[in-house]
Amino acid sequence: MSFILRCIDCGHKAPYFPTVIDCSQCGSQWREAEYDLETLSKTLPLQLTDRPFDLWRYHELLPIRTADPSLSLGEGGTPLIQANNLGLMLGCPNIFIKDERQGPTASFKDRQAAVSMAALKEAGITEMVVASTGNVAIAYSAYAARAGIKLWAFVTSLVPAVKMREIALYGSQLIKVSGSYDSVKRAASEFAKQRNLYQNMGARSVPSVESMKTIGYEIAEQLTSYLGSDTSADDKSPRWQTPDWYIQAISGGMGPLGVDKGFSELEKMGFTNKRPAIAGVQAAGCAPIVNSWKKGLENPEVVDVPRTHIETLATGDPGRTYKLLRKIVDDTGGAFESVTDEEAFRAMHVLAKMEGISAEPAAAVAFAGLFKLIRAGVIKPTDTVVVNCTGHTVPPEKFVLGDDWARNVVLPKEEDSKEETPKEGILAALSHVVPERFSRVVIVDDTTEARLLIRRILQSQGDFTIYEAKNGKEALRVVRREKPDLIILDLMMPELDGFGVLDELKSNAETESIPVIVSTAKELTKKEKERLKGQIQSLLQKGDFMSDEFLDEVHTIIP
Ligand SMILES: *Cc1c(COP(=O)(O)O)cnc(C)c1O
Ligand SMILES: [Zn+2]
Repeated sequence: MSFILRCIDCGHKAPYFPTVIDCSQCGSQWREAEYDLETLSKTLPLQLTDRPFDLWRYHELLPIRTADPSLSLGEGGTPLIQANNLGLMLGCPNIFIKDERQGPTASFKDRQAAVSMAALKEAGITEMVVASTGNVAIAYSAYAARAGIKLWAFVTSLVPAVKMREIALYGSQLIKVSGSYDSVKRAASEFAKQRNLYQNMGARSVPSVESMKTIGYEIAEQLTSYLGSDTSADDKSPRWQTPDWYIQAISGGMGPLGVDKGFSELEKMGFTNKRPAIAGVQAAGCAPIVNSWKKGLENPEVVDVPRTHIETLATGDPGRTYKLLRKIVDDTGGAFESVTDEEAFRAMHVLAKMEGISAEPAAAVAFAGLFKLIRAGVIKPTDTVVVNCTGHTVPPEKFVLGDDWARNVVLPKEEDSKEETPKEGILAALSHVVPERFSRVVIVDDTTEARLLIRRILQSQGDFTIYEAKNGKEALRVVRREKPDLIILDLMMPELDGFGVLDELKSNAETESIPVIVSTAKELTKKEKERLKGQIQSLLQKGDFMSDEFLDEVHTIIP
């Protein structure tokens, strides 16, 4: 493999040895790997076809001399999933989820760990130190176990206990430090210096940043199989697709740093036509990068005391990464955004209920950011968006779910008897947990997808009996038959439209008082708005409402 390190401060070039951590010319610790992209642009396309879809598919673009398959846990090659339901709900059909939960340690940190451990093993290192907000320690622990490297994992005491136990299970030496993540990093660094141990250097660690590029490569290949090759260029070679946006929750910011380098290399090799806009999302209680960028600062304002439950993202001092990321975001026309913990937890529910994806709160931060950027018009309805869903499906913390998330069934006990509870007993117990009659809702819409979206949202909450009607005439029949508690009504339908349905309903004593929520894709004229006035409970703009807001609305009508 031919690659060389180039110092980003003085340009000096030198071969890579993990133990040499600074530039011999100027002492800078910020160096980048450079490859012979010219040659690779010719050789790689031919070689890729026969390779498995995993991280090592692109090994010529990683800072490893010889790939060692014996260390692999199957890292990389995670699915790219189209988020059809989110797309429908948000009016932005091309949303894709890069599902990094499906890596061997359930976060994209396993890419960093796999490449770093391979590099360290090559260099003969047998013991090392990492500081982590949780997921780095888990990933490095798993790969350290395989590589036979002893790992000292320093974590903040806020890391959830399940994650700590996982770290310990891999045989790492776990050190809990009470204090912020930045002080954990200092403690780890002191410890490493004292014992002369190799320490992971975050964004200055070349294999870590380089490993993140593979996310970009994979997205380009996967998006091409969804969208077909990009033929917008005039030359004949097939081009890979890149999304308009790549969105990720950021802490230290290594992810987007590496992913953007990956996209840049693809462009330089002529495999793609553009770099995506990069969007980084932080938790509002610890958002030094977002806040500093919004203020247009050259250097970041450090957050000393992070105020967020989302400990995975609690890097208060982004250091030099801020400047590097700021340049990337500005060059690509991207954005930084912050979201509150509450917005993140809501997004976590939406993602689980709409797409069947359960991820840790840190991953939900990226989705809450997506929602915000779409609503603000920063991301356009026609844009193709890839959201990195990295992070464990850890058992949700109590504060995420609230109190009423299960129904309890208490089966009656038969005195002194080992017999099972008879069937009548079970039925009697069950009758207490679900009401006799659920509230009835009729969904009227001529498009199947739209009906399904509303149905899915209502069902995620549970307590409704749902009827559907495909047009105005059918709607009137179903309403007269079922006497629903609520009607969700589309306006534009063939034959009898929503206005006609409303007129009919309101002119009949039996149906005039049934509440109606209008959901429409139409921009209403002033006259049409007049016509709806006093007739309906609320108006939803299709493609611009969140599932939980809609449910809140429904619950104000049927408690
Ligand atoms: C590490 C991590 C992040 C932040 O990644 P950086 O690119 O290093 O800022 C986001 N989400 C999860 C789940 C993580 O583990
Ligand atoms: Zn230098």
